Amino acid sequence: MKVNEIFYSLQGEGFFTGTPAVFLRLSGCNLRCPFCDTAHETFTEMSVAEIVEAVSQYPARHIVITGGEPSLRITPELIDALHAVNFFIQIETNGTRPLPSGIDWITCSPKNADVVLTRVDELKIVYTGPESEDSIPTLASRIEAAHRFVQPCDTGVAARNSSILASSISFLKQHPAWRLSLQTHKLINIP
Ligand code: SF4
Repeated sequence: MKVNEIFYSLQGEGFFTGTPAVFLRLSGCNLRCPFCDTAHETFTEMSVAEIVEAVSQYPARHIVITGGEPSLRITPELIDALHAVNFFIQIETNGTRPLPSGIDWITCSPKNADVVLTRVDELKIVYTGPESEDSIPTLASRIEAAHRFVQPCDTGVAARNSSILASSISFLKQHPAWRLSLQTHKLINIP
């Protein structure tokens, strides 16, 4: 399996914000989002047994499988092996590809309209400005989710980020079924 990196930190975003978690970043993505802030292309080949050994060295039993787009790599064998050592498995996906069964928590962050998932635990929309507001209700009507988050996009430009944050807060106040997700790991400078 093509593994970009494994690290231990706190989940920075969404429903499990602040939760200690092992991150398994799988390499590669099927999309090319202009705002992508993840260097996911490099990889080391690891077997499922090697991955399980590496992630098990940390005390947490919450694993976040992310990418890139982890649905390109994840297998039922990996899910079973992680469950066998008591991991709660969260996946962060762009929703454009089907997932194997058995994942404990699906966080879907759709980046375009080609989403095939129709039911997830957590929907997290990256808010890039008022132009996002047309797509949010459309996605919400197509994807069933118990928890819905709007996450201001980090453009890397402070003034633009302030403007996006202000617009996203205004949007949330008008759409109270959604909640704010911040990239808290960036705010407190952890991986
Ligand atoms: S889906 Fe995610 S990982 Fe893939 S290009 Fe877009 S932001 Fe980057």
